[in-house]
Formats: sequence, C-alpha cells, structure tokens
Amino acid sequence: MHYAIISDVHANLEALEVVLGDIDRRRPNALICLGDFVGYGPDPVGCVERLRPGLAGAVVGNHDRAAAGTLDITDFNPLAQAAILWTREQLTAPVRAYLRDLPSQITPGGFLAVHGSVRDPVEEYIIDPHTARASFAAGSFRLCMAGHTHVPAIFTLDGDAVSVAPFEAGEPLRLGPERRYIVNVGSVGQPRDGDPRAAYAWFDEDQQVITLIRLPYPVERTQRKMAEAGLPPMLAERLAHGR
Ligand code: ZN
Repeated sequence: MHYAIISDVHANLEALEVVLGDIDRRRPNALICLGDFVGYGPDPVGCVERLRPGLAGAVVGNHDRAAAGTLDITDFNPLAQAAILWTREQLTAPVRAYLRDLPSQITPGGFLAVHGSVRDPVEEYIIDPHTARASFAAGSFRLCMAGHTHVPAIFTLDGDAVSVAPFEAGEPLRLGPERRYIVNVGSVGQPRDGDPRAAYAWFDEDQQVITLIRLPYPVERTQRKMAEAGLPPMLAERLAHGR
C-alpha cells in the first residue's frame, strides 16, 4: 500500500492544487488528511469540496472545529480568531456539517492518524521529547502521523529514549522494526519551518519508508485573494516566509 498524507491545508487552494497534482501523478492507494482543512486562508469551501471526493480518510483539526462552531476560540490568537470569524461566514451548510462530523482519530491502514497528538488528538502540540513521550504512552501504535505544528518532524521511541529530528525532503525515513514513531507531515497551506513550499508525506508501507515532499506554489496568488477577502495582512505575509 502507498499512502499520501496531507495536513493543515488551511483553505489555501493554490497550494492544495499543486500538491494534489503531484499526488495524482504518483497514484497512491489512499489519500489521508490530518485536519485543519480551513482557517487562515481564502478558500475554505473550495478546499473542502476539492478534497472530499478523493479522501480515503480524514480527521478533524482545531480550526475545523472552531469554524464549525464546536470549539471555543478564546484560546486562539487574535489573527487566527479573525480568520475563523471570516471563515464561519463563508461555510456552506454541507461543508460545516462535514467538518463538524469528522472523527478525531482514525487507523487508515498500518498507522494511527491524528491532527494534534495521541493524548489529545485535536488540540495538543507535539513539539519536544516530553510531549512526544506522553503520546507514545497514550496508545499502542507503532506509527502515528500527525500535523498541527506545521513543522515536519520525526519523533522516535527507541527502548526508553525519545528523540526528535527535523523531517527533511530528500532524507527518507526508513522505519526500524524495534522502534515506534510519530511523524509530523508538515503543512500544505501554511508551512512554519522557514520553507514556504507546501509539504506532504508519502508512505510506502511495503518498503516501510516515509518520504517528505516539498513543492513550490504561486504564493502571491493566495496572498492576493487574502487581501481581497479582507483577511489580516500578517497572515498573507507569513506565507512568503514559511513562518
Ligand atoms: Zn493548523
């Protein structure tokens, strides 16, 4: 089985189209989305409608719940709040219902899929050995795919030791038999690791290899749409820097 795993599209249709074009050429057995379909970007409905028919499975993100009205946004920063309020106005009833009804975790094949963490699938960030260890303890999975931080990373449990490494394009991860992994696949629509290119992961289950793929997309076009929609200028600006 070959899986394409995407996350944190954040209503960025230009980035999504480039990523889906690449995925279509590679013909995976299944396409999985790890949540945050919407929030920040200018095309929430367009992204959900484009993605939905091709998905073999998906989980909910905190921005999806916020946009659907089932998560309180007082913990969001002011820019994210502004984007959520704008997004709520855009959503159609079917898209709102779709986001509201997404599960918080799925096991689409040989791995566990969550947005945030295993301990708290929707809201917790896995950012260091401490938070990774809590998620290794919260489930019996061998491999978990996550998003939420927008920073591609590999968390490994080897015996008792938890290590963290950046996940780089061109440096495939070969899974070892005695280890457990949490892999953050990065973000399609709002990368935050200093690289503005869209990110997604490819999992070759037979070979037990995960590869990170990075693709440039027309950032300026997304920025223009955000300006026209009246979304906060900072949110458009950050796309150019991958921050
Ligand atoms: Zn996100």
